[in-house]
This record gives sequence, C-alpha cells and structure tokens, in this order.
Amino acid sequence: MLEQFILAPRIAYFSMEIALRNEIPTYAGGLGVLAGDTMRSAADLALPMVAVSLVSRAGYFRQEIDAQGRQIERPASWDPERFARPLDAKIAVPIEGRAVWIGAWLYVLEGQMGGLQPVLLLDTDLDENRHEDREITHHLYGGDETYRLKQEIVLGVGGVRLLQALGFTIRHYHMNEGHSALLGLELLRRYLYPPEDLHSGESPYDLPRVRELCSFTTHTPVEAGHDRFAYGLVQRVLGNAVDVEAMKRLTNAADAQRSRIAIDEGLIDLATLKHLAGEDSLNMTRLALNLSEYVNGVAKRHAEISRTMFPGYRVHAVTNGVHPFTWTAASYRKLYDRYLPSWCHEPEQLVRADCCIPDAAVWEAHVEAKQALIEKVRALTGVALHPKIPILGFARRMTAYKRPDLLFSDLDRLKEIARNRSFQIVFAGKAHPHDEGGKRLIEQLHAQARALEGAVPVVYLPDYDMEIARLLVAGVDIWLNTPLRPLEASGTSGMKAAFNGVPSLSVLDGWWIEGCVEGVTGWAIGDAAGAGDGDARALYDKLEQVVLPLYYGYAQDPGGWIKVMKGAISKNASYFNSHRMMRRYVTEAYLR
Ligand SMILES: *Cc1c(COP(=O)(O)O)cnc(C)c1O
Repeated sequence: MLEQFILAPRIAYFSMEIALRNEIPTYAGGLGVLAGDTMRSAADLALPMVAVSLVSRAGYFRQEIDAQGRQIERPASWDPERFARPLDAKIAVPIEGRAVWIGAWLYVLEGQMGGLQPVLLLDTDLDENRHEDREITHHLYGGDETYRLKQEIVLGVGGVRLLQALGFTIRHYHMNEGHSALLGLELLRRYLYPPEDLHSGESPYDLPRVRELCSFTTHTPVEAGHDRFAYGLVQRVLGNAVDVEAMKRLTNAADAQRSRIAIDEGLIDLATLKHLAGEDSLNMTRLALNLSEYVNGVAKRHAEISRTMFPGYRVHAVTNGVHPFTWTAASYRKLYDRYLPSWCHEPEQLVRADCCIPDAAVWEAHVEAKQALIEKVRALTGVALHPKIPILGFARRMTAYKRPDLLFSDLDRLKEIARNRSFQIVFAGKAHPHDEGGKRLIEQLHAQARALEGAVPVVYLPDYDMEIARLLVAGVDIWLNTPLRPLEASGTSGMKAAFNGVPSLSVLDGWWIEGCVEGVTGWAIGDAAGAGDGDARALYDKLEQVVLPLYYGYAQDPGGWIKVMKGAISKNASYFNSHRMMRRYVTEAYLR
C-alpha cells in the first residue's frame, strides 16, 4: 500500500490536527478542517503530497450540554485499526533524556475522483515506551505545556524522521501553523555545511537550504494562539544527548564553548536556537518564520496584520478555501452535476451558476437541505423549526473574539425585529476545555435563548462536528459571523455556506473582506474600519431593514432573494475553494 506513495518525491504537509472524516476525531475546528480540505483537494488534483499529523487516539472531546447550558466534555476515543493500517517503521526522538519511539498509521484519503493521498498519523502508544510516553499522542490539544512540547517534538522531529524511515523523498515541507516548526531543527541537523567550507565561528547549519525547503502558513492574529516555551522547559524536555560525529563537525567548525541542546543523535546549540526562535522563549511562530523562505497568511487582511505582528518578514496571502464536494449538500451536488458537470474538479465553473441554473431549481435544492437540517434539529433537541421561516445559523468555536452573543446584545430590539418578520436561530460550537470564557458564553447563550422564548425560537446543537457543520451551512438561510476585527484570520464556514447558496451576514473581517459584495453575495455588518462598538446596532439594522425584507419580499421582488443565493454560489464558491488554494500553494510556495 505504501509503495505507490514513495516512488516520486512528495510535499510533506504537517498539521497538529486534521479532519479526515467525521468518525475520526483528530480535529478541533477550522485549522483541522482546512488541513483535511487541503488533502482532499490534493487528492482531486493528483498533487504529490503526504500529510503528517498525530493519531490523537483519545480525540479532542465530545460535547454535551446540561440543562443550565454548561458544557460537559466526554472522551472521544477512536480505534485507528478501523480506518488505518499500522506501518512497520519505527523511529525514536529524545524526550527527557530517553528515547521515545514513534510508529505511524497510514490513512489513505480517497478523493472525489479516485485520487489517493497518504496521511501518516504518528503514534507513541508502543510497547517500547513507558506508560506516560505512550500517551503523548493521545489527546489533541490536551495536557499542560510540557505535554504540548512533547507532542510538538513528536510531530516535527518525529515526523521528518519517520518520513525518511518509510522511504519518502520529500521535496518540500509545509507547516500548517507553528506546531510543527521543530521539523526545521531536524532539517538543520541534516543539512550542515561541510567542515572544510567553514571558518571558525561560522554557523555550521545550512540555513538557506532549509529555508528553501520550507513554507509556513500562520493562522491566527491572536497572540495566545502562538505557542511559546520557556528555554528551561525546552532544555529539560529535549535533553542533552550528544552525537559524537555531529559534535565533532560542529566543534571543528564553530565555537566549541557554546551551550548545546541535543536532539537525539543530532544537535542544535542553544545560541542558534535562540537566534531562530527568540531570545526570551522558544516562540514556535518565530522559529517557523525564520526557517521558511515562503510565509503566508490565510486571507489578504490577515497577511497585512501578520506583517505588522512580524515586522521584517515577507508575508504573502493565500486566502483559504473549502473542499467543493465535501461541503456541498446532496441536493446541490445534484444541481451542479446537472448544470455545471465538471464543478467538482473545476469549481471555477460555478461562476456561471447565476445564469445557468433556474431559480426554481436553486430554491428546491435549498428547501431539501433546509428540511434535512430541520429533521436533525428535531432529532437532537425535540424542537420543530418552521420550514417557511428563515433560519440564521451561527456555528464555530465558542470563544470570546468570535462574539457569538453579539446577536443577543439587545434582546428587546431582537424581539421587536422578530415581531414584524419572524426568524429562527440555530447555534452550535464547542469551547476549548481550558477556555472558561468560551464556556461561559455557551451558558449565556442558553440563558438568553430562554429569555427569547415565545418570541424567537433558538436552538443550540451539541457536539459540533463535520456532520453538523455540513447540515448547518446548507440548511440555514443566512450564515452569521460576528468576530471582533481583526481577529478572524480567515473563517471558512461562510465559504461552505456559499457552496450551498447560503449568503453570509458578517462583520468585514478575514475572508469576508474579499468575499462580500453588498447585496450581491450577502451583507456586511458595519464597515471594515470601525472599532466594532457599533456592530450590534449595525447587525440589527441590516437584519431588520435589508435582509429580512428581502427574504419576505417575494411579492415586490420575486427572485430577489434567490439572486443573492446565486451570487454567493457564482462569485464566492467559484473562488473560495481549496482547489484554487492548492493551485496557488503549488505555484507560489512548493514550486517557487
Ligand atoms: C468549518 C468548520 C470550522 C471553522 O469555522 P469558522 O467559521 O471558520 O470558524 C470549525 N469547526 C467545524 C466542525 C467546521 O466544519
């Protein structure tokens, strides 16, 4: 099975999380879904890639919500044997002075058009390891910072070593977020200048060569989203086993007095590490930036913000996209198959959706998707939503900057709007187990939903995952997004909605700055410059005066609403897809 993947050189895509399928809980949110969509597009486009991630046997978590609206976290274990096959190769990395052995599972991702992509899921749950080391790859984003650093050693250093042990030739490394940046240290160890070319005091590492091999995508303008580790911790965890040969070459070449951090039989000296990763602490973003010739943000605005966060670095922009087939509801797949048959391979075709697909056919596809959501809502919550009344959807990670409660900031105003033109609201989303603010938001939303009883039906679907996301982005009528600018790097759920003819009503941040054509693809809340304090009022105004009147205005403007649905498909689905994203990564990063 592996043989077919190691014949030709590949691009290695490293990601801490990856959403392969709904039954495999190796993802927490947008970053993992993007990684999955990246590989799904790679499969459809027959790109030579291999993904590297952790097996996360204990998953992220399953969310239950109690009667008070409190999030309860349940384990989400999965059995890799059901979906993946174990590989023979094993390698070790040094952690706390001992060898931690790493094996891998091969998950073969099958694209929509038969293309196959290998995904390696690293696993330390091996007999060779002591108990605590067997759990390093168990919990996605679990544990303390020591645990996290160990995971990042396994992912970065272990990933590169395992690829080599399996016989892969890697022509390029792509770090999806900074979690995997330690891979660069392993590459530096591999690419040393020959001692005869070095003068005393010069660095022995062929940094330009490593930088040529690496690309880095940064994903968050939130400072807390960037991993930092104290050097005391780094030295404790990485240990100081020293390889004699590498040591000799270094000693010949450079200042032998420099302190060193050893990585297994290789090593990097502390001075070089601090030079690359920050003097005060090991900053994974800084390390990835310094090790990568190509760096990008995930939307144009996000790249601008990143340039101000990291002055002196050239940050490109590759705006995210979503995988066409995965995020398109069955009824819309049928529609596109009929009117724009090559859309799966070439989603650019959807640009013609506005003229080529009859209004009635679009509406029928929507009614079917809405019905599927209504049935799911009834099954999960017992609430019967009305098929003729518009549904607003809001689903994503529950955390403060996403402001899920913005819609509820003035309940009287919201009730008043609903008195004239009724609407319904569906929420979903998990809060990270350590994000107390996010959990409080879920509780608040539940309390506010109770306060709206009788005026606005509100449901909160528990355990947001890919399947619920798929139903939601297609089954609602309006996709709402209200982040605090400029903290939404890209956002992708609104792109998924576009594939299903669902227009966005969103704050101008992330991808929506590029995707919003007012009244054509959806609507903006506020403007792109403001501080955000007027956002609630702007949201109510837009909903009351523009969005709901258009939805209910069938008599005055027949086809007006469907025109916006088609605008979302033709202008946004045709562009904000992961096929376009991957073609750009290939030409601008991988084959630079
Ligand atoms: C798409 C998706 C996300 C990301 O949503 P954003 O709006 O970009 O934050 C998170 N979780 C799941 C399950 C998704 O499918």
